[in-house]
Amino acid sequence: MTDDCTYCGSDVSEHDALFVAEQRGDEREPTGQFCNYACLSAHIDEENLVEGTCCRIDI
Ligand SMILES: [Zn+2]
Repeated sequence: MTDDCTYCGSDVSEHDALFVAEQRGDEREPTGQFCNYACLSAHIDEENLVEGTCCRIDI
């Protein structure tokens, strides 16, 4: 696994890195790593990860 940000490709070890993992059965599978919350947020927007999730927010 590299240290590249999933969103922007920068070296996350030079920032306040965030790591994202999904629970699959008993295992946690890493699915992404980001420099900071800005990159995580931008990635979520770009990939439309908010849609289709089971946790809904009614605005
Ligand atoms: Zn980044």
